[in-house]
Amino acid sequence: MAKQEDIFKNVVSHAKEYGFIFPSSEVYDGLSAVYDYAQNGVELKKNIREYWWKAMVQMNDNIVGLDAAILMHPTTWKASGHVDAFNDPLIDNKDSKKRYRADVLIEDYAEKLNQKAIKEIEKARVRFGDAFNEAEFVATNARVVEYKAKEREILERMARSLGNDDLADVKALIEELEIACPESGSRNWTEVKQFNLMFGTKLGASADSAMDLYLRPETAQGIFVNFLNVQKSGRMKVPFGIAQTGKAFRNEIVARQFIFRMREFEQMEMQFFVRPGEEMKHYEFWKEARLKWHLSLGLGRENYRFHDHEKLAHYANAAADIEFNFPFGFKELEGIHSRTDFDLKAHEQYSGRKLQYFDPELNENYVPYVVETSVGLDRMFLAVFATSLKEETLEDGSTRTVLKLPAVLAPTKAAVLPLVKKDGLPEIAHQIIADLKWDFNVAYDEKDAVGRRYRRQDALGTPFCITVDHQTVEDQTVTIRHRDTMKQDRVKIADLKSIIESEVSMRNWLMKM
Ligand code: ATP
Repeated sequence: MAKQEDIFKNVVSHAKEYGFIFPSSEVYDGLSAVYDYAQNGVELKKNIREYWWKAMVQMNDNIVGLDAAILMHPTTWKASGHVDAFNDPLIDNKDSKKRYRADVLIEDYAEKLNQKAIKEIEKARVRFGDAFNEAEFVATNARVVEYKAKEREILERMARSLGNDDLADVKALIEELEIACPESGSRNWTEVKQFNLMFGTKLGASADSAMDLYLRPETAQGIFVNFLNVQKSGRMKVPFGIAQTGKAFRNEIVARQFIFRMREFEQMEMQFFVRPGEEMKHYEFWKEARLKWHLSLGLGRENYRFHDHEKLAHYANAAADIEFNFPFGFKELEGIHSRTDFDLKAHEQYSGRKLQYFDPELNENYVPYVVETSVGLDRMFLAVFATSLKEETLEDGSTRTVLKLPAVLAPTKAAVLPLVKKDGLPEIAHQIIADLKWDFNVAYDEKDAVGRRYRRQDALGTPFCITVDHQTVEDQTVTIRHRDTMKQDRVKIADLKSIIESEVSMRNWLMKM
């Protein structure tokens, strides 16, 4: 089995064993691509959401929040284009009976070419050492030029065919590239068909009067239809933003990658309303700002890359993804889209109401343009969790599993451990907790030897362990152990709050942006 697969399996089982994520309704054998966040997962998820909210809403004078309902008037989805165009091209393999997204099969093929080019570049880097000029090599090496050209040609053709709704050509491309089903190895494919990803539901009791609704497939439309309400009641001036976090639902065709692709998931979106013609400036600004936010978590610059879209959605005039190096390769984590005035204009047209802004500086009315940043909360969770999970070999040759979560996001900030269950030590530990819990999530653990308790907290990602021993009774000091370095310091109980605060405060982490 490939090492990557092992790592990913380990992530999924660690998430379950330590109470982060369970399959939904597991007693009934679960529900495909739906998951529940358990006692530790819910804390980590909440902290990621809060980290985003603080950076986007609290720290920006011109961005405000919103919490729109999941159910919306059905015409919303007609106007937004989702009823007609929120489709994925699907294809079935007749031998394995497995269903795939045709575009993903082609993209995976193209990515293999990209990986071959990267391999050549890396080999050359080793061969030429300091004298290596990557740009020149990429432009002149025959193999790299060929791989790159082929990759581009494939992606451009796919974008063209999908754009023209020419599904026969998408199938032809799969056949020409001789793409085989990963499961059966056969190339016995059905035709490519479009499949709408929205979940339908009904509003109302009686069958005749019931209204067909959809569970929202994105949170963005709740922001668009409220644009003027917020602008007027908040006396907002363009440029300004509306931010929202909340559930979205998509009946994904292929959902096999744990919480990467779920059927019910959470988005954190911000729509920034700008003057028409100024959107590219804001688009570039938000691309950089969002990358900086990700980097502030310290998961490593090499794990992120931009991917500029060739295949633009029906509403966009520019779009890029921030891709993250997940255990199964680089994939989309966040999208930044310049959505033009498509959505607001469409809602004007379908509702018959004006959704325009009077710009006092220009002395004119217009429909603002929109730049959107949209990140999946669950994908953020997976990025943070998978990258933080490490197996370490220690100096004495033993190993430990440690979840090196950014301390600001850790579910529990400190565990307080009495060395023994007697001599008044548990009482002191409880007193410490009673004080710290006003400011932080803290846990108590008295079971097992202290070394094993440290390991358990390492696996949960707790940044600090505070041990109460007999000396504590004498001088009001404790040992504080740091998760990542395992270094232990003797400190005064009275100093614990400020020590923890300095490592977990959102302020300190966000200041790194
Ligand atoms: P993909 O190409 O991976 O299907 P998308 O381009 O359709 O994603 P967007 O519509 O741009 O995604 O949604 C914004 C963000 O929402 C994505 O960057 C991703 O983080 C998250 N997201 C989208 N679909 C899912 C899903 N099924 N499960 C979890 N997160 C999702």
